[in-house]
Amino acid sequence: MKKSCIIIGAGLSGLTAAHELIKNNWEVIILDKGRGVGGRMATRRAGEARFDHGAQYFSTKTTDFQAFTHNIIQKNIAKEWNLQEGDKTFSHARIIGIDGMNTIPKFLAEGLNIKTNEKVISISETENGCKVTTEAGNFYESNALICTTPAPQTIEILQKSNLAFEEIESLQSIHYQPCITVMASLKNQTNIPSPGGISLQKGNISWIADNFQKGISPIFSATIHANPVFSLAHFDDDLTKIGNQLLSEITDLIPADSVESYQVHRWRYSLASERYADNFLASNTTKFPLIFAGDGFGIGSIEGAFISGKSAAQSLIL
Ligand SMILES: Cc1cc2nc3c(=O)[nH]c(=O)nc-3n(C[C@H](O)[C@H](O)[C@H](O)COP(=O)(O)OP(=O)(O)OC[C@H]3O[C@@H](n4cnc5c(N)ncnc54)[C@H](O)[C@@H]3O)c2cc1C
Repeated sequence: MKKSCIIIGAGLSGLTAAHELIKNNWEVIILDKGRGVGGRMATRRAGEARFDHGAQYFSTKTTDFQAFTHNIIQKNIAKEWNLQEGDKTFSHARIIGIDGMNTIPKFLAEGLNIKTNEKVISISETENGCKVTTEAGNFYESNALICTTPAPQTIEILQKSNLAFEEIESLQSIHYQPCITVMASLKNQTNIPSPGGISLQKGNISWIADNFQKGISPIFSATIHANPVFSLAHFDDDLTKIGNQLLSEITDLIPADSVESYQVHRWRYSLASERYADNFLASNTTKFPLIFAGDGFGIGSIEGAFISGKSAAQSLIL
């Protein structure tokens, strides 16, 4: 009989883990609380405009991730974005999804058994493994479990679970930066130089992307990320006020009369700024294999999420 695994989270780490397990003849079900897949590799529409409002791009340093990236570029799922900073061209090419970052997880999700709108609230042990309970009142059982939610959300699940899990301090050591994001639909193209992405070192904004120049929006639109200090200080402020304040700081790049409308999104967890050193954490105390993975482990960011998910799955197969 095939071994089975529940994966919590349909972000890049969860999807990567699923492919690795299925390749090795495991049965996998992925549960995600979101309406769609991809987690923080998110692309949103507002009318005709399209925005990458979470992750903006990634680079590849490891051979494994380079092979994965090469494959999705060949399949026209991703492409290179020749981003520059001042006079400096990055030494590693920047990669983006062909129709936005979410194109990549959507491609990986094809053919997988994924239940969306399923928020996991607790985990318990069974005779053959574990049982997961969701907010909707559904139950799922498997022999093993990989949890890829950001560490604070993982801790929330564990606190409601009746498990002999003793490594909570390792999860508590993982921290994320918040990020407030403004998505603006525009009348004209921004003044951001080609190819449409700019990191800012002063003021309250860390990054602006021109999604039209980036090639993911058919009409003019921009994504603006507030820096972590501002995002933390203003996380619970009125969204319209925050949007106005941030847009008023960058009228040289986006003139005020170009802004048609905007939305603001709050990311409580964006980049994992303090991570667990290893690529994943396996419980030593539960009776069933329980593994924690995601971008809070190893090198972080999108490449780290990929490596973590893959390594977590491989540790089950061995
Ligand atoms: C604003 C922002 C900008 C970023 N910029 C970059 C960038 O430019 N380059 C880069 O490399 N990285 C960037 N990142 C980070 C990058 O997006 C993440 O490192 C990566 O996507 C993490 O993937 P993951 O699978 O580990 O986690 P996630 O993508 O967060 O996936 C976890 C999933 O778990 C689900 N979940 C949570 N709780 C539950 C629950 N109780 N039950 C069921 N499901 C649950 C969530 O819905 C989510 O889909 C950025 C992130 C943000 C937010």
